[in-house]
Amino acid sequence: MSGARQCVILVGGKGTRLGALTKDTPKPLLPVGGRPFLSYLIQEAARHGSERILLLAGFKAEAFANELDVLRAAVPAAVELKVLAEPEPLGTGGALKFAAPHLDEHFLLLNGDSFFDINLLDLAAPPLPEASVGRLALKPEVDVSRYGTVGLKGENVTTFAEKNSAGGPGLINGGIYWFNRSLLNHFGNGFVSLETEVLPKLAIAGRLLGKVYDRFMLDIGLPYSLEQAQTSVPAQMRRPAVFLDRDGVINRDVGYAHRPDQIVWVDGALAAIKTFNDAGFYVFVVSNQAGVARGYYTEADVMALHRWMAAQMAAAGAHADAFAYCPFHPDGTVAAYAKASPHRKPAPGMILDLLKTWPVAKDQSFLIGDRAHDIEAAAAAGLPGYLFEGHDLSAFIESRLGMPAR
Ligand SMILES: [Mg+2]
Repeated sequence: MSGARQCVILVGGKGTRLGALTKDTPKPLLPVGGRPFLSYLIQEAARHGSERILLLAGFKAEAFANELDVLRAAVPAAVELKVLAEPEPLGTGGALKFAAPHLDEHFLLLNGDSFFDINLLDLAAPPLPEASVGRLALKPEVDVSRYGTVGLKGENVTTFAEKNSAGGPGLINGGIYWFNRSLLNHFGNGFVSLETEVLPKLAIAGRLLGKVYDRFMLDIGLPYSLEQAQTSVPAQMRRPAVFLDRDGVINRDVGYAHRPDQIVWVDGALAAIKTFNDAGFYVFVVSNQAGVARGYYTEADVMALHRWMAAQMAAAGAHADAFAYCPFHPDGTVAAYAKASPHRKPAPGMILDLLKTWPVAKDQSFLIGDRAHDIEAAAAAGLPGYLFEGHDLSAFIESRLGMPAR
């Protein structure tokens, strides 16, 4: 088991606090920055490696089916996106129980009306101990009077309480959970609220873990926060990016590696990638793969290797948002690939494409490579490049970029 292959999103709420805005439109489908709020959540799940996304709908369930094409456009075509409509209002817990036949052994669960900007794999990668049914993402707040609070001792959730009028600093529920399906054994039938019935009991029973993230969070449940989301959510998506060369930076350069058994991770490489993920960077791998042009292996081999590398990263709580590669070389022996390419480093094509496709904060972005042609490609794309000369990638980003691995 590695990574968060399934992501379930609760989109069944009525959004009563938003008044007329949600009369005909479910809250997660309200436009934020010109597209449905839900499309951001789906995109976040997909870039962290979710292959199947399940929307648990209730109120105006047909609206999700109608918007499915718009939502699908936000993620790669290979990601499966499905809507499951509850037959009657069942509450957040009841909706999950209704979805039971569709749930993986472990799944991510997101509230569909809030966005908490965390590394989802940091929550999902560490195995859950036998005694725990889930791990909750928690947010520190200076004044919790608007919220319910969560008590945490070490990594154990001790209390999960409804709104606490006392106020003051504390931890609140971030609306992102990593659950084992055995959670469902703790539900009754019919209407069940996860937040007011199930989680408080499980907290007292010592069956929940929690992890604190001091990261951007916003819920769109109130008119002013929905208004705020119009600019803050798109702004949050504009992230710095790190472009990583592959051979010699994340795996040892053995020359034309194309099979998993040829991959030896550079020391500290997975931890370094996770450090970038935790800090909210996009991580892009940009790799010359002239071995395709030379007939040593095929593009299918390259892609299969990248899928394997992605799974290894996920098990370490890390991910790359894209693996770009250039299969061309002017001296190639395979006719289709025997040519110069604007994507082959030192040309900047791979980097420029990624800058075009993703909302990157370019002024905070950079490349790490182990050869002059990597640094030249970065410069040609208008980015700083750092030359990594081997040893430990975590130690390198700590000393050169001031980014210690946690
Ligand atoms: Mg290299």
